[in-house]
Amino acid sequence: MRVSWPSVGLTALLALNMNAAVQAEPDVWVSEVRLGKHANHTRFVLSLSKKIEFEVFTLADPYRIVVDFPEVGWRIDPAAAQNAAGVVKGFRYGLYRPGRSRMVIDLEAPAVIANKFLLPRGKLNEYRLVLDLVPTERTKYLATAGWPKGVELAPAVAPEGVSDFELGADDPKLTNGKRIVVIDPGHGGVDPGATGVSGMYEKDLVLALGKSLRNALEATGKFTVVMTRDHDIFMSLKARVAVARRSKAAMFISLHADSAPGSSVKGASVYTLSEQASDREADALAHAENQSDIIAGVDLTKEPDIVSSILIDLAQRETKNNSVKFAKLLVPELQKVGTLTQKSHRFAGFRVLKAPDVPSVLIEVGYLTNAADESAMRANWWRRGMAQAIARAVDQYFKQSRQEQKTDAAAGRAGP
Ligand SMILES: [Zn+2]
Repeated sequence: MRVSWPSVGLTALLALNMNAAVQAEPDVWVSEVRLGKHANHTRFVLSLSKKIEFEVFTLADPYRIVVDFPEVGWRIDPAAAQNAAGVVKGFRYGLYRPGRSRMVIDLEAPAVIANKFLLPRGKLNEYRLVLDLVPTERTKYLATAGWPKGVELAPAVAPEGVSDFELGADDPKLTNGKRIVVIDPGHGGVDPGATGVSGMYEKDLVLALGKSLRNALEATGKFTVVMTRDHDIFMSLKARVAVARRSKAAMFISLHADSAPGSSVKGASVYTLSEQASDREADALAHAENQSDIIAGVDLTKEPDIVSSILIDLAQRETKNNSVKFAKLLVPELQKVGTLTQKSHRFAGFRVLKAPDVPSVLIEVGYLTNAADESAMRANWWRRGMAQAIARAVDQYFKQSRQEQKTDAAAGRAGP
């Protein structure tokens, strides 16, 4: 099946990035979060610089409370997010979509919101948002948990009317003589990802690396780079895959940094898609990374599963082979910058790698839970070195595939 792609995809993406660049500082900020355990309730208090509208709802599995507001700035100590008291295990916060901020409070056990109110505070025109949480039974919790009407999903990047499953554009991989590479810095906004030993967030580390990689690739003059996100905002996994497909990417690179219970585990690994994970750790890691949408409170009931068809299977087979070829070129390049884990190339079912027609890899660049890895990853030299290494592998990959095409043509075999 040959279908032509509407040209709106990339234009829409570029417009999205432009909007991000002119974003103004929000004029309301959260200055403090306090948690208090009382005899029969847990009190959660947010200090706000202004009176704002807010919406609160609860979700199950895992138990969590979602607080949505207009876009706010955060001037709180990130370490406070790890605090636990009463039924509260911790919380996350950040941009959920343009103009909308979200806080997700993780609960130890089901709890009802017995009180929620906004209170003027002192003479400074500040406000306090107060939530009183009282433990309850699971059945009672489930009776009221769920998405309220009108809560929007994360921003869809897809232009209207484009099916997710149209395949086989006429050489979709070259635009103005340049190939499009999509860089996907993992997590973002309300989903911080892993937290490093010194408090650094995975979402910030991989965004900085993604920008360095963009510079390194564009400096070659051979690639146009599209970022799934270029600032601190949440993006659903499906939206990331959609960026790869709509921009007609020739390569999709997702950047992450791992965490492990043992602080001695260190090094980088490259992952490609497989329903059959290569080992237990790879499977656990894919499971953890696939939780991103749940962590941010995305309504997954509205996220349809990928429809399987023979066409997609065929495209996927070739795509998987190409992803593996790229991973094999990446490993020796990454080795030049730092250590690799023992099994440096592994397979698992990462949802973000599921574009059926775009070769995709996920790189875990190091362990935030390892002090040596974390301190290296904070350094400019490491970021530049890592970006150069990935860029060299991308370049080699396309040289190699051009070579293969020539060989095929010389042997009289049909081209791709
Ligand atoms: Zn991650």
